[in-house]
Amino acid sequence: MATKVKAKPKTKKLLEPPKEGTRITFKGGKLQVPDDPIVCYVRGDGIGLDITPVMMDVVGGAVQKAYGGKRKIAWYRIYAGDDAMEKYGELMPQETLDAVRKYYFAIKGPLTTPIGGGFRSLNVAFRQILDLYACVRPVRWFEGVPSPVKHPEWVNMCIFRENTEDVYAGIEWALNTKEVKKVINFLNKEMKCSIRKDSGIGIKPISVFCSRRIVKKAIEFAIQNKCKYFCLVHKGNIQKYTEGAFKDWGYEFLKKNYRKHIVTEDELASKPYNGNLPEGKVLVNDRIADNIFQQVLTRQREYQVLACTNLNGDYLSDAIAAQVGGLGIAPGANIGDKIHFFEPTHGTAPRYAGKDMVNPSSLILSAVMMLGYMGWTEAAALVAKGMEETFRQKTVTYDFERQMEGARKVSSSEFGRAIIRNM
Ligand code: NAP
Repeated sequence: MATKVKAKPKTKKLLEPPKEGTRITFKGGKLQVPDDPIVCYVRGDGIGLDITPVMMDVVGGAVQKAYGGKRKIAWYRIYAGDDAMEKYGELMPQETLDAVRKYYFAIKGPLTTPIGGGFRSLNVAFRQILDLYACVRPVRWFEGVPSPVKHPEWVNMCIFRENTEDVYAGIEWALNTKEVKKVINFLNKEMKCSIRKDSGIGIKPISVFCSRRIVKKAIEFAIQNKCKYFCLVHKGNIQKYTEGAFKDWGYEFLKKNYRKHIVTEDELASKPYNGNLPEGKVLVNDRIADNIFQQVLTRQREYQVLACTNLNGDYLSDAIAAQVGGLGIAPGANIGDKIHFFEPTHGTAPRYAGKDMVNPSSLILSAVMMLGYMGWTEAAALVAKGMEETFRQKTVTYDFERQMEGARKVSSSEFGRAIIRNM
């Protein structure tokens, strides 16, 4: 079976929280963000080295400009991946997890997926250990960014991907192992299945609990952001008791708990709506996974919030991001009940590491999400404005320059400075 995701309890204590700065807390379930919040950051492996300092400079510039020194982030460096291996002799120190649990807000660069033994993936481990059950990926277009579609400006979607179960639960057994033989034997004998003996087996658990909580996060976002469209994405026509159940539990949960906010697609067609969605209501529908991939290309304006099971959400978020410029510009966050952990959607792109050349936009936009969740919306808007203007001036990193006519290619750090100038 797969390695169980568990951080080894180690005793090394090497972290020092910043001397200045105050902890973000919760009061009555509500987030309390001080003017000098401590925010943890993991530099990341590979190109994390290049993009993390740029992100911090841009955020610092925006916060300074928006609040004139009244507010400031107290950055707290914590370690995971290569730098943790150097400092602690392990990839994910207990102290790192404890710091994120204590300070609630963290942002990280990408981390290399270790090959062989230990962790299946550090990113997945973070999500599972800290129970960051909602992977939130907003996708919007910035004017000037090269796109493969005719109307990238119509894309304004946010994917809520369940982060902890489905085939990512890590329950699988390899061909010919004692375990796989036992499972195949059980299924064939007891459950009357007919599985070939030369099979590997993976398990796909989908629970009521996890389905409800991701749907809750997604609908609350839709209501808060006054979105009109909400879609439950599933492959329920084939996987009835997992994907199909996700859809059924989703509708059931929404009807029971958000009745006054929603109208389902079926209800919309009949009285009293007769096809007209009342102002302020969210239209809830569901789409089978294969269909949604074409719908988000052909009817972009009819999709805003998409609640997905883990694997569907993984595929779909990259596919939608491609419409607005790809992974280099796609931000993300992993969110639990209290912890908010922001990260770019791309990996460590090792061949560009240390060359100061890759696009830092994905990480910068993840920081914009972070500022939004902190309620520092003025600073978030300034970063977005600075970025918009920089793209408009066609000042871009290598990845966009090769797709844009008349663009000026700049380094990661120069791109960051241009954003600050353009705020
Ligand atoms: P990757 O690191 O995302 O890079 C694939 C390609 O995407 C790069 O060669 C580059 O394409 C482009 N790219 C990625 N980030 C970019 C950026 N910021 N600016 C411009 N272009 C960018 O994927 P990978 O090579 O498959 O994975 C490398 C390592 O990262 C693996 O260990 C993987 O497991 C890990 N990973 C980590 C995360 C995470 O931390 N969340 C996510 C995915 C992968 P061109 O060469 O065409 O320019």
